[in-house]
Amino acid sequence: MMVLAVACATLTWGQTAQTPAHLDVDLRDAPKYIFHAELLLPVRTGPLTLVYPKWIPGEHSPTGPIVDFLGLKISGAGSEIPWRRDDVDMFAFHVEVPSGVSTLELSYDYVSPSDATASREAPSATAKLAMLNWYTVALYPQGTKPAELTYVASLRLPANWKYGTALPVAKESGDLIEFAPASLATLIDSPVVAGAYFRDIDLSPGQSPPHSLHIAADGAGALQVKPAQVQHLRQLVAESGALFGARHYRRYDFLLTLSDRMPPDGVEHHESSDDRTEEAYFLDPELFESSDLLAHEFTHSWNGKYRRPVGLATPDYQTPMKGDLLWVYEGLTQYYGVVLSARSGIAPLGLFRESLASVAAYLNDRPGRTWRNLQDTATSAQILYGAPLEYASWRQGIDYYDEGTLIWLEADTIIRKESNGKKSLDDFCRTFEGGENTPPKIVPYTFEDVVAGMNAVAAYDWRTFFSTRLQSHGPNAPLGGIENSGWKLVFTDTPNEFEHINELANQELEFQYSLGLLIHAPGGEDGGHIVDVIPGSAAAEAGVAPGMRLVAVNGRKWTPDILRDAIARAKNGSGAIELLAENGEYYQSYRVDYHGGERYPHLEPVNGKTDLLAEITKMKAPPVALPAGDY
Ligand SMILES: [Zn+2]
Repeated sequence: MMVLAVACATLTWGQTAQTPAHLDVDLRDAPKYIFHAELLLPVRTGPLTLVYPKWIPGEHSPTGPIVDFLGLKISGAGSEIPWRRDDVDMFAFHVEVPSGVSTLELSYDYVSPSDATASREAPSATAKLAMLNWYTVALYPQGTKPAELTYVASLRLPANWKYGTALPVAKESGDLIEFAPASLATLIDSPVVAGAYFRDIDLSPGQSPPHSLHIAADGAGALQVKPAQVQHLRQLVAESGALFGARHYRRYDFLLTLSDRMPPDGVEHHESSDDRTEEAYFLDPELFESSDLLAHEFTHSWNGKYRRPVGLATPDYQTPMKGDLLWVYEGLTQYYGVVLSARSGIAPLGLFRESLASVAAYLNDRPGRTWRNLQDTATSAQILYGAPLEYASWRQGIDYYDEGTLIWLEADTIIRKESNGKKSLDDFCRTFEGGENTPPKIVPYTFEDVVAGMNAVAAYDWRTFFSTRLQSHGPNAPLGGIENSGWKLVFTDTPNEFEHINELANQELEFQYSLGLLIHAPGGEDGGHIVDVIPGSAAAEAGVAPGMRLVAVNGRKWTPDILRDAIARAKNGSGAIELLAENGEYYQSYRVDYHGGERYPHLEPVNGKTDLLAEITKMKAPPVALPAGDY
């Protein structure tokens, strides 16, 4: 069967080991948001359909940026060859290869959005840096397997830009990089970060396999990394070894862009990750401490890339993905992203608890749970990434990330209890995700495999445990892990430290546990855009709705402080809080009858119970030394 499939691919395309495809990408116009590419494809005479990647690994969605794929010209033996897009599949191009043509010459461009507000994919470039994801500039024959196609890629950079990638390099000359032949699957799994302000940091000096951090920033100042931050990131590499016990890559490269023009995001790969965050990431200690970005994407090398749900282990980039097991792929990764951040010293324990309290609180008050269970958020992942904030608490979103944290924490506490403290969820990671050291490979799994893997660590009714949580309509979130850890969710009038840092970063003000409002306030009072109103909350009962803009509080022009002051005063009074809101061209006053004061979530210890959160987040690997000198 395998041999026949390969033979069929050869007939369609004519590629053999001796005739790889050549893909030459030119990033010299990246600061103008356009990537140029030329592709030489070995072909045979006759009809041929070329496809542009549609389902993007790690995005779990049909997000291939076909709308930004421009300028396609095809020729062969010196003559232009016409192409025709498929009537139904916008990602497919039909050509008729004339006799005498053994190589198609294609040229085309990919245009990156220039800002994050565009309603399409995220920007891949700024004036000073670029992230090249090869799927944006790749075509391949329909019906072939990317793991079996050989591409020889080259990349030309703007003058004096530097770069980082996990893709093996054959040679470099000036601004031209020629890569070693790789399968199309490996190429697409190996993005390249490049930029004018650039530096590399070794995260496992003297060790094999190597781990590197490549940083491209919008300004030189953002490249100043503190020695303690290097120490924590090296500890993260050490902690991953202690957790999984084996690695499934030849080398690992964190490709980090620091830019306020590209929204924070991360996409995982076997041997690298495309990590995007704020320009001040290393400069502002709160941003660094509160971000699990690098730990999350790194964890995916094991959980997501090596072990992958069968529905996401598709043979090419056109076959639809099934997201039903994303509560393992993303949920377990979300849990270990925050746990490894704490173990490696990136996040102080107090901040870890505050992040857990925040997750528990917003999910516990999630009205959308009454109509949509957690399983449905995973099954419909492909339409939920990028879902708007309006009515988010009713729509729900990609909740399997944060609710995954709660469920896997609970599973962790159950294993610890059932084994009298001898085992933990770490043992599941070690057996299910670790095993032997291997180069990148994919080992798919099903729900049954997860249940069996958990039972191999600690006998328990895991099928019922997971099924009930996936199918629950609430009303509460699964808080058993927090309770088993010796903590309980409480609300006080002291702001949650983790939410406060995120408020500053996202310019979103959280009044969701008091009035029931989430307000977007760029520049403070000039914003006031009400992005969500929690159904059943005091604001919702008063008639306030998402899409309105807050103008005044108790007759005075609104600011975040004036609104907080009004909430505090109403706590001891009987009068309603009067909100004046703009709804399109109309103004209306809403009387919010709320007297509960400001409310922010925290975890409080339960007397007499062991603090398992401290145990779970304890450093497991030998401590890494603070590097000497300046970074
Ligand atoms: Zn993830």
